[in-house]
Amino acid sequence: MGDGQKFPVVEIFGPTMQGEGAMCGKRSHFLRLGGCDFRCTWCDSMHAVDPNLVKANSDWLLPREIESRLEALPPSPWITISGGNPVIWDLIDLVLLLNPVWKLAVETQGSQYRDWVKECQLVTVSPKGPSSGMLHMFHMSQLEPYAKLAREWNPVPVNFKVVVFNGDDLEFAREIHREFPQIPFFLSVGTHQDPELASLRWDICSNWRVLVEKVLRMNDLADVTVLPQTHVLLWGHDRAR
Ligand code: SF4
Repeated sequence: MGDGQKFPVVEIFGPTMQGEGAMCGKRSHFLRLGGCDFRCTWCDSMHAVDPNLVKANSDWLLPREIESRLEALPPSPWITISGGNPVIWDLIDLVLLLNPVWKLAVETQGSQYRDWVKECQLVTVSPKGPSSGMLHMFHMSQLEPYAKLAREWNPVPVNFKVVVFNGDDLEFAREIHREFPQIPFFLSVGTHQDPELASLRWDICSNWRVLVEKVLRMNDLADVTVLPQTHVLLWGHDRAR
């Protein structure tokens, strides 16, 4: 197996609790790689997006060095590979190295597809709606390879997740769910940046309630799951928790 390519590792930490989507409440390590082809207005991971911050915050590591850092952590059955957008990288060697020991969950906004995601045990695709300022980068066809993965004879569990800050985001989510009704669908309540944990929690719970009540009136969203970013409810925007 080739071991030659290094990747910009912004964070490796865990075990922690995955706070959103299909893995919500599950114990997982996090491997955050730098680099993203988007610049969402509300991105909460700019340290893994902005090239200057990535340069300042990351260690360029070989797959075997990443494996060693993960082995040094207390045990967790899952590793969540996040970013940035990890799918901009060819991670096949890394994924094959980690897979015998850990279950792998990958998170991407879905702008690109690479075959290595097939080797993961869970794929979360999170297209960015109008409030992100990146709608011009979205085409429904980008999601097709992921939907195909979910349909194949040996299907990979794929789910879609849309962050909702406003009514336009919700309409965007509905459109995707209409197009791919067979893919498990999650709505995630958009979280504003607020340094005060008490007001942040109040804000999240109020917005969660508003979104849940809206969705309950939309019969086409009867089988979607509506969640807040529960890790932010617990710990605020502290990184590496
Ligand atoms: S796609 Fe994700 S990581 Fe990239 S800028 Fe948007 S929110 Fe941030």
